[in-house]
Amino acid sequence: MTTPALILDDVRVSYGDGESQVHALDGVSLTVHPGEFVAVVGPSGSGKSTLLAVAGALTTPDSGRVQVANEEITGFDDAELARIRREHVGFVFQSSGNLPSALRARDQLELAARVVGTRGRRSNDELLEAVGMSHRAGHRPATLSGGERQRIGIARALVGNPKLLLVDEPTAALDRHRSHEIVALLAEECHQVGVAGVMVTHDQDVLEHCDWVYEMVDGRLTPRG
Ligand code: ADP
Repeated sequence: MTTPALILDDVRVSYGDGESQVHALDGVSLTVHPGEFVAVVGPSGSGKSTLLAVAGALTTPDSGRVQVANEEITGFDDAELARIRREHVGFVFQSSGNLPSALRARDQLELAARVVGTRGRRSNDELLEAVGMSHRAGHRPATLSGGERQRIGIARALVGNPKLLLVDEPTAALDRHRSHEIVALLAEECHQVGVAGVMVTHDQDVLEHCDWVYEMVDGRLTPRG
């Protein structure tokens, strides 16, 4: 069995204290192996964003163990957490509205490559090809559709050849057809390249593309039976 790309073991995160304390993650355990693509569904406020933040080394939990790509990150300081994000984690955001507007598609990837340092597994041109965007390499975000922007966002997240791909509501701004295309693309990348994907979504419609589905309710995560 390969080493998991992500292990969360009895992770707890609380906000506030006393009467108003919120248990955003209330003993969450999750293991994702390379090549797996899992979904986490659940209502607003159930803890999904907090889960992504912990898995992506953006938030340190109050207790529990977090392992990313064979590195136990529990107790890491900010600089070490930044290295983990840079070396191992790719983030795909809601609607990829965060692509710098002045940069053409190929330069979005070039900028990301400078930040993470290229590791040469796939060139930026190959990544654009993989997400079906070679023909739009010279376009700026304003001239791309929502689905095309999301494809660039996915390619950008894959630039550093991450072990773990964390995806936050990727279909929030897309119609049904494009939603299926984008989630199928994410699943295909995970399966073919061996990256482990965790997608947070409200979109019940796209779960058929996922290997496993988990439900988050009040900070507790359970596999959907
Ligand atoms: P979701 O992504 O499922 O909407 P979140 O992880 O954002 O859920 O939030 C889980 C719970 O933690 C919610 O009750 C939310 O209000 C609370 N919460 C999240 N972040 C903070 C914060 N920085 N300060 C206080 N409460 C927070």
